Formats: sequence, structure tokens, C-alpha cells
Amino acid sequence: MSFSNLGLSAEIVQAVAAKGYTEPTPIQLQAIPVILAGGDLLGAAQTGTGKTAGFTLPILQRLSTTVAPHKAAVNRWPIRALILTPTRELAAQVEDSVQEYGKYVNLNSMTIFGGVNITPQIRRLKSRVDILVATPGRLLDHVQQRTVDLSHIEILVLDEADRMLDMGFIRDIRRILALLPKQRQNLLFSATFSNEIKSLAATLLNNPAVVEVARRNTSAELIEQQVYRVARTQKSALLTHLIQQHNWYQVLVFTRTKHGADRLAKHLLQNEISALAIHGNKSQSVRTKTLAKFKEGGVQVLVATDIAARGIDINDLPQVVNFELPDVPEDYVHRIGRTGRAGSSGGAMSLVCEEEVRLLKAIERLIQRTLPQEIIKGFEPDPNEAPEPDRRNQGRPPRGQQQRRSDSRDSRPSSRPSTGGRPSAPSRSSSSRRSP
Ligand code: AMP
Repeated sequence: MSFSNLGLSAEIVQAVAAKGYTEPTPIQLQAIPVILAGGDLLGAAQTGTGKTAGFTLPILQRLSTTVAPHKAAVNRWPIRALILTPTRELAAQVEDSVQEYGKYVNLNSMTIFGGVNITPQIRRLKSRVDILVATPGRLLDHVQQRTVDLSHIEILVLDEADRMLDMGFIRDIRRILALLPKQRQNLLFSATFSNEIKSLAATLLNNPAVVEVARRNTSAELIEQQVYRVARTQKSALLTHLIQQHNWYQVLVFTRTKHGADRLAKHLLQNEISALAIHGNKSQSVRTKTLAKFKEGGVQVLVATDIAARGIDINDLPQVVNFELPDVPEDYVHRIGRTGRAGSSGGAMSLVCEEEVRLLKAIERLIQRTLPQEIIKGFEPDPNEAPEPDRRNQGRPPRGQQQRRSDSRDSRPSSRPSTGGRPSAPSRSSSSRRSP
């Protein structure tokens, strides 16, 4: 099946060909016809499945082949599609895709996210914007300042909806929904299906087609996964050893904390491995520059926290390392999804110390697989290891120290569900059906 057989126009097929895609991914095969036909869609898919093109291509097609119905009435260009994302990185990436796939059609797009000056966004919003990609918080700032008009939205996308809820955006989302016209197409993408997502989908979507693709990474066909059992104090030395031994040239390393990311990047630099850290304490422009440098191959190791890495899209990333395992097992799947994307192979290594063994077990339960373990001589685990300082006091901080968690995880939610839901049919490679 080719992209043109899916009903996409020559201009869009040409842009896809320019990206080098030869055939649609399973989510694209299923989602594109549904969206082209104007129906609502519930997509069970995570980053790495090609979902962005799955919704972007048909949106571009629909908007470029129909006239904005309100244009005459409002006498200015209405915003016709709104794509909400949980993070600024993902917003920027999605808009990049919109631009690339839409380079042969006459549509304009822009991103709106916080952490940067609002004035240029206000200025840009005065000109033609057909497709707006936004994070909820900053979008509501614009709503409050009356610098954005959402009353002509024809298509709404909630991308990584589970992440948005995890990050506490549900009220913002509901406020935004209230500003949209009732008559519109709704597309909701989520990797997991908690009760909260289900209830959002129930109120938002109208007789949606349900499109599911298997959690690519749990099958681990493409991703080689390996656990190294090691003493916590030896992790930095082991990582240095592995990078040097394997000559890894582009490694994404995950740490749990912002300061941990900085410390590790510093350690690697001291060992003559070029490394940069990316996390929530860095300004948006620094994060964007760091990411670009890593993508270009200008830096060997990018050390990131989960929040900062969310949505990072790097093709053919050969190596992901979990310097520390995530507290939430689902994050493991998201992390390793950064490698071996859309057909290329990759490796995911986890450095696991004694006190992380329970986290490892939870991950193995989730992915329904026992991961191979190895101990490297000279970097053995320490059975008598003291609990990690960061976690020692978790749950019951000593008096007067409740505010002192500056080295906290780079994430907001504390109420986050530890298991989340899972797509209901992970074993099938793909399926498409109308919900009852
Ligand atoms: P996404 O799931 O949207 O983050 O996409 C994952 C990666 O797959 C991105 O780097 C896309 O550029 C790439 N991609 C999307 N569609 C295709 C396709 N049909 N063939 C090959 N690569 C693709």
C-alpha cells in the first residue's frame, strides 16, 4: 500500500516522498482514511509509530482542499486546526512535521508554548495561521489576553493525551474544549488508557474509529535490551567504560533528577566524552540548541530527564541508556522508544543497582519479558549498598526540610498512576474498528 493509495493528494505524497518514506506505517494505514473521511479517532499509539504523520498528512489534505467556511464572515484568516501537546519540545516537533509535510500546500502553521517571550507569538497570531500547535498553559494565556481566537477550529488533536493528563493539564484542556465550536473533528492519541483517558475520550469523541498499534517496543524485536547490575557508586564509571568500549557515538542517557543529569554530564566531560544535559531548569533556547547539536552529531552523549526528553524525535538513535530506572514502569517503554524507530534497530541498556531491582521487576511485568542481565568485571553490584540519598527520605521528609527538594525529579505529577492503563489489544500488530 502506498501513500497515494490512501487517498492523499499529489502535493502531500510528494512531500512524504521527499522525507524518504516508502510506505505508510500501520498507524498511518489505519488513521489516514478515517481522518480524511472526517470521522473522530481514538488512536492507541505512542511516539515512534509514525503517528504524527498519521494525523498531520490527512489534516493538511483536508484543510488544503476545502475553503475556510468562516473566512468571509470574519474577514480574517481563522485558525482551522488545533493540535495540543504536553511539552514544548513535542509542539515544536509536530509543527516541524506540519511544515515539512505541508511544504507543497498553501497552509500556515505556528507553535505556541510557554517559557519564551509571548510578544512574538502575539504578533505572529495577527497574521494567517491555519494550523496551531500549542501546549495548553500558554494557549490559555493567549485566550485570557484575547490574542487567539479558537472559535473556528474545525479539527482538534490531543497528542500524547495520557502525558497531558499526567502533567495535570486536564482542567486546562477542558477550558480549551469549552472555547471550540461544537461541530468539529476530534482526534485523540494516547499510549495508555487509564480511566481518566477513557472518560476524556467519552466526552470528547463522537463515535470514534479506534485505531491501535502494538506497543512496538514491548516486543523488542528491534531493540536489544540489556541490564547491567552494578553498584550505584560505580554507575558513572561503568557508563564511561561502556561508551568507550562500544564506541557509541550518539547516546541518549536518562537520569531521574536534574542535578543528576548535570553531574553525569560533568563526569563524562571529565573523561573526555562530549556530553550535554537537558532538563527543565534549562531555558527553552538552550534546550533547543542542545538538542539540535546532539541531532547533528556535535555532541556524543545527551543526558536527559524524562520530562525534557519527552517527544524528542531523533531518527536512528542507536543507543539509549537508563542510568537510573524510572519510577513509573511505563516511562521505561517511552524511554527506549527513542531508539529503533520506524524500522531501524537500536539498543537500550539499563544500569541497575540493588535498590532498583524492584523497579526492574515492575518493568519486566509490564513488558512481559525478563531482560538479560550481565555483571561486568570491576563494576559489580554492592549488596550492602545504602539507599540512594534522594530517595532515603521520600514520603517522610525531616521536619523543616519539606521545601528542600531542589534536586527533585524533573516532573510535576505526584498523583501519577503507577501502572496506567494499556491499550486493550497489545498483542495484535494492528487493528482498526469502529467503537460500539
Ligand atoms: P512519530 O511516531 O510520529 O514520532 O514518528 C516516528 C519517526 O518515524 C519519525 O522520525 C518520522 O520521521 C518517522 N516516520 C514517520 N512515518 C514514516 C514512514 N512511513 N516511513 C518511515 N519513517 C517514518
